[in-house]
Amino acid sequence: VSFSSYNLSEEITRALDSLGYKSATPVQQQVIPQALAGKDVTVKSQTGSGKTAAYGIPLCELLEWEESRPQALILTPTRELADQVKEDIMNIGRFKRIKAAAIYGKQPFDRQKRELMQRNHVIVGTPGRVMDHIEKDTIDLERIQYLVIDEADEMLSMGFIEQLEKIIKQLPKERVTMLFSATLPKDVEALCHRYMKNPVDIEI
Ligand code: AMP
Repeated sequence: VSFSSYNLSEEITRALDSLGYKSATPVQQQVIPQALAGKDVTVKSQTGSGKTAAYGIPLCELLEWEESRPQALILTPTRELADQVKEDIMNIGRFKRIKAAAIYGKQPFDRQKRELMQRNHVIVGTPGRVMDHIEKDTIDLERIQYLVIDEADEMLSMGFIEQLEKIIKQLPKERVTMLFSATLPKDVEALCHRYMKNPVDIEI
């Protein structure tokens, strides 16, 4: 399926061209229309399937450049994934000048605090450090409209469940939530039931 069928803006289409993405992968074909329509989704898919762009493309399309406060929060289990996701988002959103910050542990808190004071459309982070910033009131989550939980099963098996729930409780209730996981064990399903609105289940 060609990306032209999604009626994406010229800025996003141009970015996909420059990345060499010619057609949507199966997970992207399933997720993009639902996300563009504002539906919550639960997605069972592996790394390598193009899952980052599956949420990155609709996210970058929907973000409002003019809004100066963060609109999307993406939670990842590891620093490496947070950096990768930030890079992917900035690539997809480059012609729209989308800005993203990545925050995670083992990095100076004050530097991240300064980064969070700049204008960011997207914040990508690991749950522990995001929670630290919430507790110190150095992160602005009041305008978050999109929450992505990436590699949810990894996050739960690493013991992030409590922090994850605490973070979700800080977010506006009016939002779109997208959860990605390689497997859907019971605790991940329970999380979906508690914090998502009639999610569309997608399995690749
Ligand atoms: P991910 O599953 O998000 O880790 O993505 C795996 C790889 O596929 C990454 O290197 C992406 O840049 C690449 N990719 C994602 N979507 C597409 C696409 N539609 N066409 C070609 N490559 C893609």
